[in-house]
Amino acid sequence: MLSGGKDSTALAIYMRERVPNMEYVFCDTDKELPETYEYLTKLEYFLGKPIIRLKDDRGFDHWLEVFGGYLPSSNMRWCTRLLKMKPFERFIGEAQVRMYVGIRADEDRTAYESTKPNIQTILPFKEDGLTIHDVHRILEESGVGLPEYYSWRTRSGCYFCFFQRRGEWVGLLEKHPDLYEASKAYEKFDATTGKRFTWAQRESLDELAKPERVAEIKKRQEEALEREKKKRTNLPLVEALEEVLNDEDDSQACGFCNF
Ligand code: SF4
Repeated sequence: MLSGGKDSTALAIYMRERVPNMEYVFCDTDKELPETYEYLTKLEYFLGKPIIRLKDDRGFDHWLEVFGGYLPSSNMRWCTRLLKMKPFERFIGEAQVRMYVGIRADEDRTAYESTKPNIQTILPFKEDGLTIHDVHRILEESGVGLPEYYSWRTRSGCYFCFFQRRGEWVGLLEKHPDLYEASKAYEKFDATTGKRFTWAQRESLDELAKPERVAEIKKRQEEALEREKKKRTNLPLVEALEEVLNDEDDSQACGFCNF
């Protein structure tokens, strides 16, 4: 199972020789970053076989309407279920399947566990004790490297994913202003109830994009980065950024989409 992120990509590379007839699957929400699609193509060249891309026919906008405009959130994650899990389970059907997931030994989050008894989840990195350093090494040695979005965002997933940290929203604003605008267009304000439907908690994307707010988020991130670099002098910049982004308390990762 590929998410378009570094861990699942490193796992695909790691498993290539171990399970030669492996099928590689990516569940496409049609709302991924362009860098993710490019990264998948790069991986296809390396693997020498196509990645199977699965989609829900109706797509995000249809389901948003069904949910009355309620944006998905960590408490109501209908997007993962309908746009990723369901197409995957439909594709598997009743076949007995081993699903390899790139959760690392140094992570304590859990992988998606199917309710279908015919899908067995396997975590090779956990079983073999591979950590973040091994992932970076595997990607570097293979020549596949990190995804292009990695300088400003550490996780794969939809461009509007609500699991994004503030710094990553700023990254989207600067790298893909069109996608930032597209994300903003999904936010709503209900004047009758006073209810706000926003991607980030307690803040709309309009508020987050204000120059003074952007400057504040960037300053905080740079300060955290400096602290991290001072704490561990040999830490590569990319890993320091990872530590900083992962330290923010408004973050959680999705065990199906972001790895
Ligand atoms: S990446 Fe985020 S928004 Fe997209 S399906 Fe997964 S949890 Fe939902």
